Amino acid sequence: MDCIFCKIAAGIIPSKKVYENEHVLAFYDLDPQAPVHVLIIPKTHITSAAEITPENSAIVARIFEAAAVIAEKLELKDGFRIVSNCGPAGGQSVPHLHFHLLGGRDMTWPPG
Ligand code: AMP
Repeated sequence: MDCIFCKIAAGIIPSKKVYENEHVLAFYDLDPQAPVHVLIIPKTHITSAAEITPENSAIVARIFEAAAVIAEKLELKDGFRIVSNCGPAGGQSVPHLHFHLLGGRDMTWPPG
């Protein structure tokens, strides 16, 4: 298991958990880009959004269900942003599918 987020999902590397169920884990990003910056990951290894298929796509729904629960729990009443960087040009640094949930400030568009 040579994947940092697989190790976090397995509890081998500690994280500050926000939400967890059988399929999904959410924890605070170590390098927050907003007052609230949570990463939501599948517990099983999927490298990126480019690897989503009809066979594994149900996890994306589970992740967005978790995002709605987390946004409610963290009182992001004014809104939030969900981002998944994919591949080197997309700015992905950890090759395990993850969604950034950012909130607590006004977001700008377009992103950099
Ligand atoms: P990305 O660059 O889109 O692949 O996002 C990876 C994110 O993982 C970055 O925002 C990092 O700050 C974050 N990160 C890396 N290692 C850890 C860790 N051990 N715990 C929490 N967040 C991490």
